[in-house]
Amino acid sequence: MSLVLSGGTVVTSLDPPSVVSGDVVIHEGRIDAVGPAPWEAERLDCSGCVVIPGNVCAHHHLYSALARGMPHRLEPPQSFVQILQRVWWRLDRALDQGSIWLSAWSGGADALLSGTTTIVDHHASPNAIEDSLEHVASALEQLGVRSVLCYEVTDRDGPERAAAGLEEHRRFAKTRRGLSTPMVGAHASFTLSDETLEGCVSLADELGAGIHIHVAEDAADQLDARARFGKRVVERLADAGALTERSLLAHCVHVDEREIDLIREAGAWVAHNSRSNMNNRVGRAPVGALGDRVALGTDGIDGDLFAESQAAYWRGREADPSVDPTWALARLAASGRLAAAATGEPLLGRIEPGAPADVVVLAYDPPTPLASENLGGHWVFGMSARHVRDVLVDGEVVVREGRLTRTAADEIHGRCREAAEDLWRRIDETPAHAFEPEGAP
Ligand SMILES: [Zn+2]
Repeated sequence: MSLVLSGGTVVTSLDPPSVVSGDVVIHEGRIDAVGPAPWEAERLDCSGCVVIPGNVCAHHHLYSALARGMPHRLEPPQSFVQILQRVWWRLDRALDQGSIWLSAWSGGADALLSGTTTIVDHHASPNAIEDSLEHVASALEQLGVRSVLCYEVTDRDGPERAAAGLEEHRRFAKTRRGLSTPMVGAHASFTLSDETLEGCVSLADELGAGIHIHVAEDAADQLDARARFGKRVVERLADAGALTERSLLAHCVHVDEREIDLIREAGAWVAHNSRSNMNNRVGRAPVGALGDRVALGTDGIDGDLFAESQAAYWRGREADPSVDPTWALARLAASGRLAAAATGEPLLGRIEPGAPADVVVLAYDPPTPLASENLGGHWVFGMSARHVRDVLVDGEVVVREGRLTRTAADEIHGRCREAAEDLWRRIDETPAHAFEPEGAP
């Protein structure tokens, strides 16, 4: 199976930015060459288009996809913990197998159509844990999305569910599908006992995977760690063996200098979610200090990394004049490197010989010259998900002319809307979660 993306402008790398003219030759799911095709093959005309590596979402919650537009009938939350108690910890308990699949499908379709080819997901469904990762993987396989999946292990719903969450990773690791890879999911320090955190660390060793965990998203996480363990969140993770170069730490908003040093010394990845941080009013992450392993996630808002990277740029720039458009490209490239490390595909996120053929064709006819030196400016001020024309994952065209190729989107979208109404009804019947962190002032 060969395919040539012919006549386009090709972004071979986001960091350092590299823009060339040429054909992209794809053979058996991989980039074979960037340049003239050495043999006759099917061609996809990309003249007037820009071909980029598929975007990677470094932190997603596909289980929240059916929450879009959801009514909220409880008293409006005033704090981050109340947002969890009154919104997300009601939604996750209301999920069943069918709504897990449809959420993953809906969020996965949104990502692909936005030019995102790999999703690093963090899943929770405390009343439907068994086989939940298999349902997520199955929906994503139907679409053709690459994924790194985990279940959010936590003690907030009791020890049996904490054990079931750990066990779900083992089940999934045995049966996982071609384009999905396991990580080990943990919710956050403030809902984890030492025993459960130890369970996550030994499971990560067993599976040869990293731990994907929320870290100091809100000050409540630090207050709880101080009250229960007498230490900071990142110190607790480091002491438990949960801080390694495979770890993925989401948010890191409320980390101090010592914790930043620990994160950088360990070489852990950080998923920065600027829009979510603004939406939840949790504060600004010290992204400059956290270094070059800061990647970008959407935290469940959507699958659009153009919008996320632009928001990260605006917000970063407002606070720090050294943030420039190239910084946004470097963060997206870091998401690619994270996915490359997690999936064992070292060239993922680049367009070069040997890389998996995860690429996006943008119908972006630049109104000004486009070159390596100014790719960042085009990215931040011009390119967007509306330019996504075609998407390839593993060499297969999974979006053509803005439409999914593998699946009857209209029919499944109808099922998603019905499932959302049922889900919202069940959420209405679910009380606010009673779990409270320690150390609240
Ligand atoms: Zn999250």
